Amino acid sequence: MCGVFGVYGNDPVPVSASVLTFYGLWALQHRGQDSSGIGSSDGEEIYTYADDGLVAHVYDGSALERLRGSLAIGHNRYCTSGVRENSYKQPIVKGDRFAFVHNGNLPSTVALEDFLNGCGIETGFENDSGMMALAINYHIERGASLSEAIVSSYPYFTGAFSCVAMDLNSIVAFRDSCGIRPLSIGKLSGGFVVASETCALDTVGATFLRDVAPGEMVVIDKNGVRSTQISSTSGSRLDIFEFVYFSRPDSLLLGKRVNEVRRNLGRELAGEYSVKADVVVPVPDSAIPAAMGFSEVSGIPFDHGLIKNRYIHRTFIQPTLEMRERDLRMKLNPLPESIIGKRVVLVDDSIVRGTTMKKLVNLLYSAGARAVEVVISSPPIKYPDFYGINTPIQSELIAARWSNEEIRDYIGSDSLSYLSYDGMIKATGLSEGLFSTSCFTGDYPIDLFEKKLEVGG
Ligand code: 5GP
Ligand code: MG
Repeated sequence: MCGVFGVYGNDPVPVSASVLTFYGLWALQHRGQDSSGIGSSDGEEIYTYADDGLVAHVYDGSALERLRGSLAIGHNRYCTSGVRENSYKQPIVKGDRFAFVHNGNLPSTVALEDFLNGCGIETGFENDSGMMALAINYHIERGASLSEAIVSSYPYFTGAFSCVAMDLNSIVAFRDSCGIRPLSIGKLSGGFVVASETCALDTVGATFLRDVAPGEMVVIDKNGVRSTQISSTSGSRLDIFEFVYFSRPDSLLLGKRVNEVRRNLGRELAGEYSVKADVVVPVPDSAIPAAMGFSEVSGIPFDHGLIKNRYIHRTFIQPTLEMRERDLRMKLNPLPESIIGKRVVLVDDSIVRGTTMKKLVNLLYSAGARAVEVVISSPPIKYPDFYGINTPIQSELIAARWSNEEIRDYIGSDSLSYLSYDGMIKATGLSEGLFSTSCFTGDYPIDLFEKKLEVGG
C-alpha cells in the first residue's frame, strides 16, 4: 500500500511544510506502518529524514526543524515484499536534485531495467520505486527539469503508481494511466497539498480541489498549478479494494464517501441473505460501517461484541504467520454481554488467508455464542494483487483453493456468506468500468507481463 503526501507552501507559511507533512502522514498512517520519511526544500538544499515505525515515533521536534523550507513530500511505507528491508525507506533521493515517493507497485520492471542497464546504470538491489527514481535522475543529470524527466521516464513505468516528486522549487504529482491508487489535490491558504486520501487534506486544513487524473502530471510551483496529460487513458480504474478495506471512511474516492459506500455494502449483503440472528457484530474497525448497514436493512440490532485494543496496529502487516497469530489475540477481546447465548452475525470486510476469521469464530464460541453466522462485505478474493496490496501469492488465498463450504468448515462457523460481485458494484453507486476489480475477477487492467505466470484460472 503506502501513503504519500506533498505540500507546496508560499513563504511565509504559518507552519513549516515538514510539520504539515508530519500531520498529513499521521492521517495516512493506516496506509503503511513500517516506516515513514519526509523530504523538504528551502530552495537551497533538499533535506530528508526517515526511520522505521509509526509516524508519531519517527519524528521529533528537532527532526522536523532540520526539515526546513516551504516545500515537502512524505511517505508511509507498507512493505509489500514481506520483509522489512532497511534500504527501501522513502523519500528516495538519487543525485541531490530531487526527492521522490511512490504508492503502488510495478508488476514488471523489465522495461525499466532494460532502459537503465542500456544507459550503463546498475540496478543492483533496487526495487521498483528505486528504479523509477534512477530513471528520473538519468534525465535530470542530462539537463532535464524534474517534470521533463518524469515525462521521459513515464513509458518505462509499467504498473500502478501514484507518485509525488520535488526539486528545490516545485512539487510534481503524477499517476498511472489507470489511476489504480488514489491521489488528490487540495488548496491551502498560500499553497497546495497533494495526498493519497482526502482525509489528510482535512487534517491539515486544506480544501479538496480535485483528484489527480489517471495519466496526468500536475506541477505546482510559484506560477501555480499546471496540468499535463502525459499518457492517453481510457479513464479511471481505481482499485475497488480502496472502498472495501484500504481507505479511511472519511475519505472521498471518485466523489463518494468511503463510509457511505461501506454502509451500502452491508445493506446489499442484508438484501442478498436473510439470516436469523440476535445481534450483528462487526470486526473492528474496518467492518463497522458494513455491519451498521446490515443491521439497518435486516432489522437485527447492532452491537460491539469485539473490543479492539487501539494501540496495536494492523496484524495483517506482520510478515510471518506466527507473528500474525499471536497479535490477533492481543488485539481483539470479546464482550461477554453481547455474545453469551446469542446467535451472532459476524461481519468482516474480507477474508484473505482465513487466519483472522478462524480465530474470531473460535473466540466467539468460547465466549458463549450460540451460533456464528459469518457475512463478508466483498466477494471471495481469488486472485493475487500486483498493484500494491500485500496478497501476492495465489496459493495463500483461501478462496482461490477452496469452495465456500470448505472455507466455512475451516473457519468453523454455522454459515458463511459473501457479498455478490454485482452487489459490491451497486454499493459504490458508480459504474463497474471505473474500477480495477482484479483480486475478485482476475481482470488486470495494467499488463502483468511475466507475472501473468503467477495467476491461475
Ligand atoms: P486473513 O486473516 O484472512 O489473512 O486477513 C483478513 C483480514 O485482514 C480482514 O480482517 C481484513 O480486514 C484484513 N485485510 C484484508 N486485506 C488486507 C490488506 O491488504 N492489508 C491489510 N493490512 N489487511 C487486510
Ligand atoms: Mg480487519
